[in-house]
Amino acid sequence: MKIHEYQAKILLNGYDVATPKGVPCFSVDEALAAAEELGGDVWVVKAQIHAGGRGKGGGVKVATSLDQVRQYADEILGMNLVTHQTGQEGQIVKRLLVEEGVAIGSELYVGLVVDRATQRVTLMASSEGGMEIEVVAEESPDKIHYLVVDPQSGFNRDGARELATKIGIPELSIEAAVDLLEGLYSCFWEKDCSLAEINPLVVTESGGVIALDAKINFDDNALYRHDEIRTLRDLDEEDPAEIEASEKGLSYISLDGTIGCLVNGAGLAMATMDIIKLYGAEPANFLDVGGGATADQVTAAFSIMLRNPDLEAILVNIFGGIMRCDVIAEGLVEAARQITLDVPLVVRLEGTNVEQGQKILADSGLPIITARTMAEAAERVVAATQGEH
Ligand code: GDP
Ligand code: MN
Repeated sequence: MKIHEYQAKILLNGYDVATPKGVPCFSVDEALAAAEELGGDVWVVKAQIHAGGRGKGGGVKVATSLDQVRQYADEILGMNLVTHQTGQEGQIVKRLLVEEGVAIGSELYVGLVVDRATQRVTLMASSEGGMEIEVVAEESPDKIHYLVVDPQSGFNRDGARELATKIGIPELSIEAAVDLLEGLYSCFWEKDCSLAEINPLVVTESGGVIALDAKINFDDNALYRHDEIRTLRDLDEEDPAEIEASEKGLSYISLDGTIGCLVNGAGLAMATMDIIKLYGAEPANFLDVGGGATADQVTAAFSIMLRNPDLEAILVNIFGGIMRCDVIAEGLVEAARQITLDVPLVVRLEGTNVEQGQKILADSGLPIITARTMAEAAERVVAATQGEH
């Protein structure tokens, strides 16, 4: 789950991570009132969407008068902000953050992730703040420094001090930087984050260390123990198809291709996407119906997939283990009858009672294309999109 920058900053303030003073706003009037309340003579008007790269896309503006605050708030609210993370379709801005302006000394990068190789929380830091870290990793990997946190001994202040020095934080600001990093780590650990990134982290002209931006993602599997985090969810920022799918207990992610996939088990779903690519097409989605595949779930899955205008065919790839193939086949037939399927449907079943399952599909009278192996299924579904079925 993702949250907005202003929510991340409030959360981090609770861990003594300093941020500029700011106020979230939903209208131009609120933005003006916020700027007046903040005082000073420089403000930053920031679009709040769940994607980075807002600055380059015109979603972050520095204002030097209240008139400019009004003008920028008016321009940014309601704009369709396109960044490298939103994709071409962009994201409509519905919330703003108005902050006091900060005199930037230097811009740095710090971020925490779970590193799969070491299976540990890893702090990444770089002197190249304000840039996309992926670009830094590509062009000058030597400018990224790492500190792996041992879960038994916890945050290592000496290691952090060394890291802070390596990225060019001046001597006088080192302790403040280490405090901030420790706070960031505590937040990451306690709230079950999957990402906590500050880009840029800024050393101000007076030597203070503050988070000018903040991006935090949470591990969905741990949200059950964080009611306070779940309330921060902003459904406006999420794909409506993905929201509906999650309500039905389906793991669904929209993709750019043409072949809808309905699979049980995440591993099989990934393998199915791979084999579709191998046969020359692209998956329209990732969809894991989990251990079961009830008629109700399959119906919901079909209707979600069919709303995608790019969909050209559906591939169902189900392994019947505890849930037997005949039960799954009955569910599929019932779902296919309830919904007008106007694209070819290829079904591959394997596992317990596969023969009975195949027979139910064949006897249904529905125009279902069956396949025995994954390769056959992929080949047939790709052929179906090319009108060869
Ligand atoms: P992002 O583009 O979505 O990552 O949004 P950021 O919050 O990182 O803002 C983009 C850039 O705007 C930063 O890298 C800064 O250079 C600039 N910026 C943001 N806040 C301020 C501020 O208070 N003062 C100044 N001078 N620049 C700022
Ligand atoms: Mn940023």
